[in-house]
Amino acid sequence: MTGTIIIAGAGLCGARAAFSLRERGYEGRIVLIGRERHAPYDRPPLSKQTIDGLQSIQHIAEDENYRTSRIEHMGGVDVIAIDRHRRAVSLSDGRTLPYDKLLLATGARPRVLPGAESLTNVLTLRSFDDAMKIRDRIGVNRSLAIIGGGFIGLELAATARQLGTSVTVIESLPRLMARAVPAEIASIVQARHQQEGVEVLLNASIASLGQDDDRVRIRLTDGKEIDADLAVVGIGAIPNTELAEAAELAVDNGIAVDAFMRTSDANIFAAGDCCSFPLQAYDGSRLRLESWRCAQDQGITAAANMMEIATEYDGIPWFWSDQYDLTLQIAGLPSHATETVRRELPDGSLLLFHLDARGRLMAASGIGRGNAIGREIRLCEMLISAKAHPRREDLASPSTRLKSLLAA
Ligand SMILES: Cc1cc2nc3c(=O)[nH]c(=O)nc-3n(C[C@H](O)[C@H](O)[C@H](O)COP(=O)(O)OP(=O)(O)OC[C@H]3O[C@@H](n4cnc5c(N)ncnc54)[C@H](O)[C@@H]3O)c2cc1C
Repeated sequence: MTGTIIIAGAGLCGARAAFSLRERGYEGRIVLIGRERHAPYDRPPLSKQTIDGLQSIQHIAEDENYRTSRIEHMGGVDVIAIDRHRRAVSLSDGRTLPYDKLLLATGARPRVLPGAESLTNVLTLRSFDDAMKIRDRIGVNRSLAIIGGGFIGLELAATARQLGTSVTVIESLPRLMARAVPAEIASIVQARHQQEGVEVLLNASIASLGQDDDRVRIRLTDGKEIDADLAVVGIGAIPNTELAEAAELAVDNGIAVDAFMRTSDANIFAAGDCCSFPLQAYDGSRLRLESWRCAQDQGITAAANMMEIATEYDGIPWFWSDQYDLTLQIAGLPSHATETVRRELPDGSLLLFHLDARGRLMAASGIGRGNAIGREIRLCEMLISAKAHPRREDLASPSTRLKSLLAA
């Protein structure tokens, strides 16, 4: 197959799509256009190993691979408009490029706190450049206020604490990670942060946020004041849908695609954090995920479909988070369940199985040291895909191997 495929957004999803096109034998031109000056890199280390200095930027591929795969990466350039009629995109450097197929892999950006945009010591964390700025300002004798007790904020809290930073987490809800993580796992994570010396403030609403010289000053509605060298806001992300909206593509909590990652225009595809898609394993409910594996797999699926190899995306949502030596993992959607069965493993790890009213396994979550629960969660993904209805007593008993349930 020949022609030109343009990929707007050079993150994980865009890069995986580009390489996958070549691996599948696409012969035409591939142009990968990214706003950031860096070649595509992985974001998960940014709140973990990048901040604590153990890893620098983790590129998805070496420069040499782009050359040998004939992928034209244009860094530091924005796609600013799509002309669907002429099938062309306009770039921020004044160029116009025609396409046969276009993939939107524009990702998401951090939600900001209104009024905090101009404060130099109030940052967000999405890019490698953000991570470098944060890294320069934390450590022994420094204080960090994290606004938002979600994954990114808590991973950063753990990393900053391990570097000797004094850390306060400010969360407006009654518990941490309320959006995606079951309460029992969130409470284990909270206890660990507190044991490590992180101050965790729940039900905490911000009345004012300002900066005096180099200090961030936060006042809560209950009158408490927090003073810090730096504040990082981690209150969620917004999908980058503006290009799609201006081109009048359907948008529904993300650029709306079908199971083939096709937008409402047959020549334009979208994938990764920027899109919402029908989740096959959950009767087609529409969902937008911010998850590393989903972005990668959807990029690969979009590549196949752009080459007219019809391939449905049928992944099970999966996410992990590393905080201290703990890893939590979630497969499936616990929000679709009505009942939870617990299994405690001999090494102290915990697994939770989330069932719907008919006993179907809808999700599994767990927490343990290192990769202690990795294998079990992988098996649960298979059980979820298979729409299994395992017996509660089998799930609860550590002596019943999940693999045997799969065979059943
Ligand atoms: C700090 C951090 C930690 C994370 N940790 C985990 C984890 O532990 N586990 C997990 O599963 N997931 C994690 N994630 C989520 C995961 O990294 C994302 O789901 C994944 O990066 C999404 O990939 P993407 O390519 O869809 O979007 P992105 O990575 O956001 O890439 C999109 C790219 O497109 C560019 N762009 C946007 N608009 C335009 C335009 N108009 N023109 C050109 N370029 C454009 C953006 O600048 C960006 O570089 C983490 C994310 C962050 C930020």
